[in-house]
Amino acid sequence: MSQKLGKRSRSRAEVMSRDGECIYCGQPTTHQEHMPPIGMFRKRDRASGMEFATCAACNNGTSAADLVASFMARIDANGALGDWRFQEAFAQRNMLMELAPGFLAELLSPARVEPVLLNTNGVLTRQAMIKADGPLTKAYLDVFSAKLGMALYREHTDSRLPDHGGVQAWWYLNFGLAIKDVEQMLSIMPLAGRLAQGRKTSDGQFNYRCNTDNKSIVVALVSFHDNLHVSFAATSDPQFYNLPFEHPRARFTKPGQIAGMMPKVTPSQLIMLPGLGGAPYTSLRIPARRA
Ligand SMILES: [Zn+2]
Repeated sequence: MSQKLGKRSRSRAEVMSRDGECIYCGQPTTHQEHMPPIGMFRKRDRASGMEFATCAACNNGTSAADLVASFMARIDANGALGDWRFQEAFAQRNMLMELAPGFLAELLSPARVEPVLLNTNGVLTRQAMIKADGPLTKAYLDVFSAKLGMALYREHTDSRLPDHGGVQAWWYLNFGLAIKDVEQMLSIMPLAGRLAQGRKTSDGQFNYRCNTDNKSIVVALVSFHDNLHVSFAATSDPQFYNLPFEHPRARFTKPGQIAGMMPKVTPSQLIMLPGLGGAPYTSLRIPARRA
């Protein structure tokens, strides 16, 4: 059999037997986790690789953060409204309202949306500039960024981030990253990463550059659809590497903390109403609201 470029895909059994401890918190593993998540990719068509084992709480409890990141990665000021990314983002709105209640209302609140005129090849078009600085947006993307850092640490060092380790992570949207900062970061990150399965790759949807000693530290700059960018340093020895360092937007996270960083959402309530015309009950689903 010929060996194809890219890593061999692993079966679920292989993934689960490889890691007995959750890569995010160290608890016993029960679930297979894809990082980046399947929903990040066009039509959920994800090349294999980067499957990890996690506990139920980390897997189920942070799926809203994956959904928000997949949504934000598709909202691009340079895209057209007919673009598939917009269509897929728009199609996610009901699931977002269910899993991350309040997030869309926060993101699209009038105080955060500013109409702007963009000059595209001499043609002026009306666009909306969204200031993504709300507390829910930050909480979800902070969780996603920390998860990504811990997953790539596992990928490159062959062991989970230990409890005494930590990941300092921060994220940007399209306009937030200056070219000179990117060039400076890339100059110290010689390795290029992506998912590749035969000829199917994650190019344009998930690419990263990183530097690592393959045992104690991974630093990386990760791009999703050229719109959401995550930068992080994940290390088993924060003291040696002087982490966390001063940074206005970076968050330092230790293993076991991500589930607790998720915004508190009360479960949807099911209200039973007397039914009409023979049906005993009509159920009305009331979306959960944050207190
Ligand atoms: Zn866990």
